[in-house]
Amino acid sequence: MSAAQWVEPVDVHAVTGTAEALFRSTFGGDADGVWAAPGRVNLIGEHVDYAGGLVLPFALPYVTVVAVRVRDDAILHAVSTHTGESWQGPLADVAPGHPSGWSAYVAGVVWALRRSGHLTATTGFDVAVHSTVPVGSGLSSSAALECAFALAVADLAGLPTDESGRRPLIDASIRAENEIAGASTGGMDQSVAMLARPGHALLLDCRDGASRHVPLDFRSAGARLVVIDTNAPHRLVDGQYGNRRATIEKACADLGVATLRDVADRDAAVAALSSPAAQRARHVLGEIRRVYEVADLLDRGRIADIGDALNRSHASLRDDYEVSSVELDSAVDAAREAGAWGARMTGGGFGGSAIALVPTDRVDAVVENVARRADTASLPTPQFLHAEPSGSAHRL
Ligand code: ADP
Ligand code: MG
Repeated sequence: MSAAQWVEPVDVHAVTGTAEALFRSTFGGDADGVWAAPGRVNLIGEHVDYAGGLVLPFALPYVTVVAVRVRDDAILHAVSTHTGESWQGPLADVAPGHPSGWSAYVAGVVWALRRSGHLTATTGFDVAVHSTVPVGSGLSSSAALECAFALAVADLAGLPTDESGRRPLIDASIRAENEIAGASTGGMDQSVAMLARPGHALLLDCRDGASRHVPLDFRSAGARLVVIDTNAPHRLVDGQYGNRRATIEKACADLGVATLRDVADRDAAVAALSSPAAQRARHVLGEIRRVYEVADLLDRGRIADIGDALNRSHASLRDDYEVSSVELDSAVDAAREAGAWGARMTGGGFGGSAIALVPTDRVDAVVENVARRADTASLPTPQFLHAEPSGSAHRL
């Protein structure tokens, strides 16, 4: 029998202190400043970004903090409490695949900002990183790292950091992840880390990058959104992700549309495809509709009514898209059994995290039931996070 384990959000000033202390012990002297960016969770809209769909993420109260100082020798020296490892090298040598490992997410941001003409070739940086975002749990510690550092670079270089000034920083963070770290992702994570607003989700249109803020106040609805990090190892993620993407691209070619978003008659499109493309397309088309449905309910303040769409999203990801896992299904089922209004896997799947919308007086029962179910089935012990819609990257 395992007691539920919560990961409490640490006060940002305590996180800052840890990053500053690491900076001083590694580099000597003080940083020029400290910046933070949040992790995120996607409320709904899974595996639709590469189909030109819409997603509805919000920022979590867990952040990655970077303490940064400018250098004038075009060298990057980066250190993190997460790995304990530092990396140092000339920024001129940064290229796809180099550096490898975690420093690619930092070096890649400078590489991209140099390429887009936002940064001069002589600028270098000392960077100390500390994070309270769980790393590798599908809560986007990678974008939190990129975006905290991108904002630091922009501030130190005198670039604008208002909403429109953040667009090139989002682009640079995406390029760092795709091209230098070699991780294939859409732009959801970086957009929400840079544009999120407290008490709101970000409705992001992946077709053209347009976004708007949608009110999201769980407390006023007498509820909480609980993130369940299954702690399950990711399996086969890259191959399966590429396989799903390729299936959707082939389906688009067969249907003669640029993206599945452009399909006019959903039922006819699914009927025209053979298995498994038909099920995969049915998920994507249904999920895009569910994002509209949830955004519309939230616009009308009807948070308590979104549970059903969350449940349908999970069933579709499990049965049609086949990206769930025994750990995610266990968490979702146990959460609903103990009184959640809705629950679903979130993120790419095959491990990672689930979310549950829970009336406040059932939160303890839900987390206990999820933990107990995992224990009984000899699954990894899950941990739980508080998903209070939080703000975007900022300077401290
Ligand atoms: P997620 O973004 O969901 O946490 P990813 O696999 O996309 O998972 O990114 C995790 C990777 O990002 C880590 O393996 C590491 O390379 C890098 N990373 C994230 N946060 C940190 C950190 N605080 N310190 C060092 N590296 C980090
Ligand atoms: Mg990531």
